[in-house]
Amino acid sequence: MSTSTIVRTPSAAPRSAEEIAAILENPGFGRVFTDNMVTIRWTEAEGWHDAQLVPYAPIPMDPATNFIHYGQSIFEGLKAYRQPDGSIATFRPEANAARFARSAARLAMPALPEELFLESLRVLVEQDSTYVPDDQEKSLYLRPFMFSTEVGLGVRPANEYLYVLIASPAGAYFPRGVKPVSVWLSTEYVRAAPGGTGEAKCAGNYAASLIAQAQAAAQGCDQVVWLDAHEHRWVEEMGGMNLYFVYGSGDDARIVTPELTGSLLPGVTRDSLLSVAKDLGYGSGEGRISIDDWREGNASGELTEVFACGTAAVITPVGSVKSADHSWTVGDGGSGAVTMRLRQALLDIQTGVTPDVHGWLHTL
Ligand code: PMP
Repeated sequence: MSTSTIVRTPSAAPRSAEEIAAILENPGFGRVFTDNMVTIRWTEAEGWHDAQLVPYAPIPMDPATNFIHYGQSIFEGLKAYRQPDGSIATFRPEANAARFARSAARLAMPALPEELFLESLRVLVEQDSTYVPDDQEKSLYLRPFMFSTEVGLGVRPANEYLYVLIASPAGAYFPRGVKPVSVWLSTEYVRAAPGGTGEAKCAGNYAASLIAQAQAAAQGCDQVVWLDAHEHRWVEEMGGMNLYFVYGSGDDARIVTPELTGSLLPGVTRDSLLSVAKDLGYGSGEGRISIDDWREGNASGELTEVFACGTAAVITPVGSVKSADHSWTVGDGGSGAVTMRLRQALLDIQTGVTPDVHGWLHTL
């Protein structure tokens, strides 16, 4: 189907400019949604069809709808940023489209064509553009998702799906702002195993993570760090973010992120930082980091900073680590210089403050 067939029937009662301005003062994260949404249907007979921009509203569903029971449900997360000239750009949406297609393949769901994914973003952001804040720490978070809508309790790939795009103005993801988080190394629970769904952004991964996050909180930590499923030894990622380890300091710093073994989510921010680090003159690469490497690197001073990265929070420093046997402080426990420089450099690209040398911005 042609990409121009998203039929627009926007809300007849959108929020006023004053109401939106009040929301943008303190949007929080994922609490308030814009006036409209995009929906596109897929059926075996018709493929993708019935693409619409409609008022944001509940989606009625039959109690036997397939995804509620068996979890064929995937999503994405990316942001639209206000640029200095007032225009709006999304950051690397093609990467999210590609990951969405890979998640769909893993869950035996149909792939939404990239051009339709991008068109849905364009149409919704254009319609609800007043919700895009003009502030470097704020943005419009875009949440594309897809789930099976076939009614019936048979366990098999469904023959009907619904793609939906909603948008939510976002402030700081962690309410405490850019402050180092404390992390709990989970050995009791694993997030993903080889051959499992760790590489896919599917709803079930997040449901399965909640108990470990609760355990981290019970240990007095902000976030859970996931280890590999086999040996409970190799560091994988942190909650809903990827991790980076900083070795050395100043211009000699080198950043290393756990390699994509199949059980990590391949983050767009993670991938971008491999290049941003090089732009700043740092070394960057992928590797395997064990919890012993982490603890010993800290003790020797070779490992100077650790940070987590993802679309929602951009970059968050990791200040301290706790496991069943050990606890230690990362560097001086504060926000490291390399971490904060990378954070600013990435934000400056996303918000158009520095030139988009990598061609990552997709301007509306
Ligand atoms: N890991 C997990 C488990 C996540 O949910 C996310 C957020 N999508 C990330 C890492 C970071 O990915 P991205 O940089 O694409 O937001």
